[in-house]
Amino acid sequence: MCFLYINNDLLDSIPLEKSKSLHYNKALSKNRGLIMRCPNCSCDNDKVIESRSNQHGTSIRRRRECLNCGYRFTSYEKIEEKRITVIKKDKREEFFDINKIKRGIVSCTDKLNIDDEVIKQLLENIEINIRQQAGSKREIHSSQIGEETLKQLSTINTVAYVRFASVYRAFDDLKQFIQEIERLNKKVSS
Ligand SMILES: [Zn+2]
Repeated sequence: MCFLYINNDLLDSIPLEKSKSLHYNKALSKNRGLIMRCPNCSCDNDKVIESRSNQHGTSIRRRRECLNCGYRFTSYEKIEEKRITVIKKDKREEFFDINKIKRGIVSCTDKLNIDDEVIKQLLENIEINIRQQAGSKREIHSSQIGEETLKQLSTINTVAYVRFASVYRAFDDLKQFIQEIERLNKKVSS
């Protein structure tokens, strides 16, 4: 049996779409994090039709069917991870941000005709290895990130590797480093 949190008189007086989200939200706030409710009728009785985890087992996608109204919906479970702190050479700290590495790699691979998919995979590998190295302390040194990036780049393109290496070794600060690569790229293309 499905339990509704709003009486029918109230439901009739508001548009259908709005009423759905309203009692869905009410249901959510009443049972936050405990029960999965159908987005269509807010019943908490569903069956899982299909479960699929991503390549690295860090998230699970489940296809569900509501046993009350037959509505099908998808839920995602993701492992909650504490943010990683990067310790720089000068001991300053910042949160790990894969987008910074991405910018560096995009700069290094400029005009090398490397497929977007290859870069995406590369970034995924880097992030997984960084998370592993950060361990339970969730801390990593900026030099480890640089070396990991170099290691991964060396597997896909020598030119990109040399570009990254020549600039990376001279700088600790990733921002400074990206500016330098961008300057080099401008030099090459002008
Ligand atoms: Zn339903």
